[in-house]
Amino acid sequence: MSTVFVNGKVFQSGAGPNDDAVFHSAMVVKDGVVQAVGSESDAAIQQAKADGSATVHDLGGRTVLPGFVDGHVHLLTLGYSLNKVPLEGCHNFEDIRKVIKDYAVANPDVKRILCRNWMFSMTPGEVTSDMIDDLDPRPIYIESKDLHATWCNTAALKDLGIYDDFDKVVGGGTIHRNAETKRPSGLLSEAAVFDLVWPYLSNVATLQERTDALEAAVNVYTEQGYTGVVDMALQEESLEAMVNYIETRPDKRPPIRITAYWLIKPRGTEAEHLAQVDRAIELAKIHNGATGRNGETLPSLRVVGVKVVCDGIVDACTAALTEPYGDSARTSADLIWQPEMVEPVVKRATEGGLQVALHAIGDRAITMAVNTIAKYPGQKTLRPRIEHLELASHDDAVRLGELGITASIQPVHADPAILRAWPRLIGEHRCGRAFAYREFQDAGAPLAIGTDAPTAPREPLANAYIATTRRSAREPNAADLGAVNPHFALTLCQAVTAATRGAAYSVFADGETGSLVPGKAADFAVVDMAWDTSKLLGAVIEETWYSGKQVFKK
Ligand SMILES: [Zn+2]
Repeated sequence: MSTVFVNGKVFQSGAGPNDDAVFHSAMVVKDGVVQAVGSESDAAIQQAKADGSATVHDLGGRTVLPGFVDGHVHLLTLGYSLNKVPLEGCHNFEDIRKVIKDYAVANPDVKRILCRNWMFSMTPGEVTSDMIDDLDPRPIYIESKDLHATWCNTAALKDLGIYDDFDKVVGGGTIHRNAETKRPSGLLSEAAVFDLVWPYLSNVATLQERTDALEAAVNVYTEQGYTGVVDMALQEESLEAMVNYIETRPDKRPPIRITAYWLIKPRGTEAEHLAQVDRAIELAKIHNGATGRNGETLPSLRVVGVKVVCDGIVDACTAALTEPYGDSARTSADLIWQPEMVEPVVKRATEGGLQVALHAIGDRAITMAVNTIAKYPGQKTLRPRIEHLELASHDDAVRLGELGITASIQPVHADPAILRAWPRLIGEHRCGRAFAYREFQDAGAPLAIGTDAPTAPREPLANAYIATTRRSAREPNAADLGAVNPHFALTLCQAVTAATRGAAYSVFADGETGSLVPGKAADFAVVDMAWDTSKLLGAVIEETWYSGKQVFKK
């Protein structure tokens, strides 16, 4: 049975990279697949309409975009965070205390108090456990907005089993300590968060809790017009939840395609790194079969590569830069993965047919990541990618194109409202290199847009607003916020393409999804919007369709 969509504006990418989008008024979908796209007077559309069994769906003049594919997300973490106490409305430490206290009183039965979206600017100087110990005897975990730090009370440090540990070291991370007693002082950062806190909290969560969290995350994604996600830090706990989530659904088919990269954690030896790559190779065989699980063309869950977090982030002064940070107290940050550590990982992944995704934010980390990928030419056909690319040099931007490296970018991280500290941290001159998207595009690098949710908002058209205007979606009316490096802006057609076909391309899903052309899955969003970058914040996702089935309606 076919459905004929009429009276719409069905998006098609421009023919060339700088051409604007083309819109057609009608689309025919049959058996979950796009059959035809064109004008209502086209023979194929007329014919489909004439077939008595066809359903006609009037789009009422709205825009139809391919289903969004989030090129970089942490799905299970997002699911957990949906249930955490939100602190984003807090302005200062007293606000934080009040919100936590109120929540604790209202929720006497929860075992742990988990909070999210704390920003360093809300608290004075370095935080410690004793600042929050009097609030409640239960473990309190406060996650920073960027997810790279967790602030624990004493009960949480005991919960994690590190309160009485005076010399534990986490490679690539920091357990902040009291200078005199050497006891953990309450703040954990970088790998101490990813390696200690996340696995611990994920482990103490039951499989059902994890599955529920995942379902919550998928649901909010479906409501935002997404039909695909690329999960960037898969681990055993999240994989188990994903499999369980899919297998326990009545039709065994979630309304979204999940593609995942296995997180390789920094360890003491090369053998330990390679063992992790081998596990990913094994998982790819299980979850990337040619026929797909449950008889789908493209499986609902695939494991396609490995992820390595080569450096940190600018705001925590942990991104690896070629010049020291501006703040003299924090002179520079080293790479989390040195070339001699990351090269064997990329080599083994390439030999095993896995894609690599290297997180690199600072210019020094980006150069190292590009050099590493360049060393293994076999990776080129596997579509290697670099995540974030926040301070790339012009030379490295050009090399992305030459080496076919996907620029995996998250415009939400370029929101001027969260960059206010950058001139102080890295100096005005280096801010001029921030988020050089247009250079990546012009160099011919494949672009994949994502959100890095839950570290940043997930709305796809607010993301496109920042990519195209370089202005703030968080504080669109803030008088002090201009456009950040507007010459690096993408066109709207480029941004939508990178958030759909580009992200699908980055994980070899572009043959099946990511654009509305005959033969591809009918994955799309119906959007009430104007094709005008200045109006993107007013766009409303009204319907989401996955494989020809409506899975969300506002
Ligand atoms: Zn991420």
